[in-house]
Amino acid sequence: MNVTEIIFHDTCRATLVVEMLETDAFTTAGRPHIPRILFKLLPQMATQHCFNDDGLSFRREAQDTEIPHLFEHLIIEIQDQVRRGIGVPLSGETCWNWTVDPRGLFYVTVDYDNEIVALGAIRLAENVINALDSHDLSRIEALNLNREISRLREIAKISRRFCSASRLAGQIPIPMGGS
Ligand SMILES: [Zn+2]
Repeated sequence: MNVTEIIFHDTCRATLVVEMLETDAFTTAGRPHIPRILFKLLPQMATQHCFNDDGLSFRREAQDTEIPHLFEHLIIEIQDQVRRGIGVPLSGETCWNWTVDPRGLFYVTVDYDNEIVALGAIRLAENVINALDSHDLSRIEALNLNREISRLREIAKISRRFCSASRLAGQIPIPMGGS
């Protein structure tokens, strides 16, 4: 899975273009270890809200879903952990249309409140998904999510590049970037 394009909209949402190879499995159905290890690494992720066609919990939905959809939830989870659950709830969406786009191309849209943290979360989530997908134990063991999330928390503290628009009415305005 490759993130080939990231567009930061000034509405606190980012759109990612995600490409999967024709040879990749697009869903978790035949790769149950991906959600299993992910929920072991980040247990609270299984409790996330998910709006899917069958009204399934995210834990159930994750057993048979497009891998970029899992990726979307992972980006939200990492940002939530960096924020320690404080702030406006973040959400996301995954869509595709292979009647016009090549097979394996997905658009993942995620909310963010700090562009730098969002970029870090996107790249970390991409690494995590690809490590799990590789089935390479050493790559999976080398993932130190707690350390990476602590690093992003440090970046959040010093970074002033917050998103410029308040998405929700009544939200306390977030300071604009200084430079
Ligand atoms: Zn979902």
